[in-house]
Amino acid sequence: MSKIYDAVIVGGGIIGCSIAFQLVKRGLRVLVIEKERMISEASSAAAGMLGAQSEFSSDSPMIPLALKSRAMFPQLADELKELTRIDIGLVQKGLIKLAFTESELCELQQQYQFWKTLDSSVRWLQRTELHELEPNVTAEVSGAMYIPNDGQVRAGDLSLAFAKAASVSGAEIREYTEVVSFVTENDQVRGVVTKSEFIYADNVIVAVGAWSAKLLRETGIELQMHPVKGECLSVITEQPLLQATVFAKNGCYIVPKWGNRLLIGATSIANTFHKHVSVQGIYRLLERAQQIMPQLAEAKWEKTWAGIRPQTGDGLPYIGEHPIYKGLWMATGHYRNGILLSPITGVLVADLITKGKHENMNLSSFQLSRKNGITLIT
Ligand SMILES: Cc1cc2nc3c(=O)[nH]c(=O)nc-3n(C[C@H](O)[C@H](O)[C@H](O)COP(=O)(O)OP(=O)(O)OC[C@H]3O[C@@H](n4cnc5c(N)ncnc54)[C@H](O)[C@@H]3O)c2cc1C
Repeated sequence: MSKIYDAVIVGGGIIGCSIAFQLVKRGLRVLVIEKERMISEASSAAAGMLGAQSEFSSDSPMIPLALKSRAMFPQLADELKELTRIDIGLVQKGLIKLAFTESELCELQQQYQFWKTLDSSVRWLQRTELHELEPNVTAEVSGAMYIPNDGQVRAGDLSLAFAKAASVSGAEIREYTEVVSFVTENDQVRGVVTKSEFIYADNVIVAVGAWSAKLLRETGIELQMHPVKGECLSVITEQPLLQATVFAKNGCYIVPKWGNRLLIGATSIANTFHKHVSVQGIYRLLERAQQIMPQLAEAKWEKTWAGIRPQTGDGLPYIGEHPIYKGLWMATGHYRNGILLSPITGVLVADLITKGKHENMNLSSFQLSRKNGITLIT
């Protein structure tokens, strides 16, 4: 009889690794299975923004999760550094949202009205104030909102740190191994099936990002999910041009990174798993980014890349147990917020598995069985 794990996590992205870290901390025997290399998909492509406030303009069940998760980063950065020596590059210099057109201005004002009643630190900026904060951002904006508490990290380093922290704390990691199905007995999961073997576990956590719907079909349910490709590029400037992240309402953002790098993102192309970077995508990003910061024209080209975001039908992630099989858990569909939500997702899933609940957090909106969450395959 082969070894039985307390938990097998399918998917070695940031979500799987954060869960693995939390489960080994609670004393469970954990195996992470990844079909390629660890951290080789969306989690290494992300810009790393912690946009707990910039992402929302009206009430959403995601907001408590996002705020709680963002607040976990300072302590998490120290904990991961001590365990792994990896610096996740936490920067807490805020985020400025910009509007250029009349309709963007209207949307941004609505977003400001929403946040100002909840958080007095969120400010509407006059042009002179914008110039004082970020002298290299164009003055040709129709509106600007400052969110001082939205920060950023290096997404790839955070993901690697979770993986390494899980591993040094006792988790096993198996790369280049694809899970194709599940071992089940009546209404209980007993493990996973790879292309070459059965691996047994009391709990199985599916954290395979954009590939979740395909794998879950094996369990008789259809998740409402689709992939959304995002393309990015980076350039290097002689001098640092930005302190805060700037995010235009038209979807283009510029994130200042180490070594005078500027990360410029991101396109959104639905229903494709192809990670090629298109000329059109990069051309549009550069056009929009130069509108935000004309000096970009002088910057040195570095590289381009793309990743596949996991999006759900109602925009909310799936965090919870399978409606048919006990011990089979889902943590997927984090779309544009998987880096931000990684700390809280790890804690929530680990608490659900070890305690059967999570105090102080209502997770009903994220259950698979929510309205229009899944359909049963007959
Ligand atoms: C361009 C871009 C910019 C982004 N910017 C931000 C940002 O600024 N802030 C933010 O919070 N989020 C951002 N995101 C979103 C974030 O990257 C994702 O939400 C997050 O990485 C999802 O993590 P994941 O672990 O679920 O998925 P992934 O990182 O995709 O990991 C899933 C893993 O599962 C593996 N897998 C799939 N099928 C199987 C199988 N059958 N067996 C074994 N393994 C399998 C895959 O190979 C993959 O490694 C961005 C995304 C993109 C693409």
